[in-house]
Amino acid sequence: MTSVGTPTRLPALAERTGHLADSAIGAVLRLTGTSDVIPLAAGSPAPETFCSQEFTEVTTRLLKRDPAALQYGDASGLPALRSWIAAQVPTASGRSYEADRVLLTHGSQQGLDLLCKALLDPGDVVVVDRPSYLGALQVFRLFQARVVDIPIGSDQGLSRLEAVLAAEPRIKIIYVVPAFANPTGASLTAPRRDRLADLAERYACVLVEDDPYRELHYDPPARPLSATPPSENTVRMGSFSKVLFPAARLGYVIAPPSLVDVLMKFKQAADLGNSHLIQGVVHELVRDSAFLAAQLDRARGIYRERRDALVSALTGAFGSILDFEVPHGGFFVWAGFPRGTDTTRLLPAALEEGVSYVPGSDFYATDPDRTTLRLSFSCARAEDMPEAVERLARAWHNSIED
Ligand code: PMP
Repeated sequence: MTSVGTPTRLPALAERTGHLADSAIGAVLRLTGTSDVIPLAAGSPAPETFCSQEFTEVTTRLLKRDPAALQYGDASGLPALRSWIAAQVPTASGRSYEADRVLLTHGSQQGLDLLCKALLDPGDVVVVDRPSYLGALQVFRLFQARVVDIPIGSDQGLSRLEAVLAAEPRIKIIYVVPAFANPTGASLTAPRRDRLADLAERYACVLVEDDPYRELHYDPPARPLSATPPSENTVRMGSFSKVLFPAARLGYVIAPPSLVDVLMKFKQAADLGNSHLIQGVVHELVRDSAFLAAQLDRARGIYRERRDALVSALTGAFGSILDFEVPHGGFFVWAGFPRGTDTTRLLPAALEEGVSYVPGSDFYATDPDRTTLRLSFSCARAEDMPEAVERLARAWHNSIED
């Protein structure tokens, strides 16, 4: 018998655990933890947008009508919800996707994990935008991919991408967040989307369109890559986290038929499928088009007000010192201080002043630009933005005087 205090003897961990990164997302969420810090770090949606009343009503109704909602479900996802998603997503042909091309996942994060399981061997190459979503970088590294980062949205970006595609035979995935990206807030223009789709097809890569912010627009983005011909190599990932609430842990992947079948098998092995109950509730919510329109309107209104407050406070406090573009949707302002500022080193002082942000270096696969930072406007109230930015400005001014 093992007595209290006897050290546990475990076998050696698997080799892949050596590729686990520290949880960068966990660290970001912790930065928002204390109440006296104004949270410009977390990319979480505003709790004010959560439809808890409708969720409660629909759940009660569904359980009365269908006790089997508490049963296991189909590992691919609730058929009615797969059909609803297939009908919503624009396609290049104008004809809807078949529902069997849709796989429901635990957030789009699980979609990334399943896709890597299906496609990547150690040493395969993934091309990402520069900078890029840190949760995706974490997954690609775990699968021991070689990550190549290219500023895909910049003027020279696509020519550089083409040169890399021509030179590097092991590229399997090109990963982009095409609308209101995390972390930059930027969107790909329609001509760049055309060229990207064309390159993915020409070089036989999977073009991952990770698009959780698309619906949260203050000005609509260009058509999705799933509707940009040639779209046969595009894998679209969507999420209900930002539109409804992240606790649903509900996202989806739309992939070519041969790939979706493999993804479904990995999904089955991982968790036997998403919660049947949550999928039923989400389906009841979103198929009510009046509810969905009102929900989106309300969320866009809240975020637009917060974006405007943050942007005007940044302009007022920093003028031309801070370089940033105004985002037309999503949650993020990506900003750059003048050369000499290191935002990782600045962070403790900012937290001390009472404001959080995420240092830009977390979002680079290689060679980070340490002057950059991500400011999220999703969680802080509009009326707190001037104070948040004043605190940031104080921390920065003190740092240059040191
Ligand atoms: N992709 C991007 C670009 C994100 O910003 C996020 C969430 N921050 C995700 C994927 C994961 O979202 P979820 O798993 O909640 O759908």
